[in-house]
Amino acid sequence: MYRYFSEIFSGLWSLIVGMRITLVEFFKPNITLHYPHQTVKMPARYRGHIELIADEEGKPRCVVCGMCEKACPSGCITLEGEKPEGSKKKVLTSYKLDFTKCSLCGSCVDSCNFGAVEYSKEYNLASTRKEDYHFDLLKRLEDRHS
Ligand code: SF4
Ligand code: SF4
Repeated sequence: MYRYFSEIFSGLWSLIVGMRITLVEFFKPNITLHYPHQTVKMPARYRGHIELIADEEGKPRCVVCGMCEKACPSGCITLEGEKPEGSKKKVLTSYKLDFTKCSLCGSCVDSCNFGAVEYSKEYNLASTRKEDYHFDLLKRLEDRHS
């Protein structure tokens, strides 16, 4: 008889403990997101692929010195520029990044004395196609400022 009631009590107690945990967790704030419908703001130190930075007029700050291209140990960066007639300065005409080879080492960012290239906060880049990781960074900058 004693055993019978002891088992009932033990089962009820276990139910109460379980329900208490469920209730506590139910009212806690959510810490998960419905990815990819919801996205999170990345922390300041997050390193996404590099991105060109614009000046106040929305033009690239890049002066086509080529230091980032030389500094990249993986050969990810290919850039081109030209001198418009009557101008002493070169203008950036193409800046391509092959992100499939990038190790996010930061040499390109560190080598730029003009603050013209920075890490982006991009992380939502899942794809099965290699071509999706070949970025035209000049076009991306133009699109952002058009
Ligand atoms: S180091 Fe800076 S300024 Fe020079 S080519 Fe690269 S991004 Fe442009
Ligand atoms: S982060 Fe490193 S590997 Fe990636 S593009 Fe810059 S220099 Fe090249």
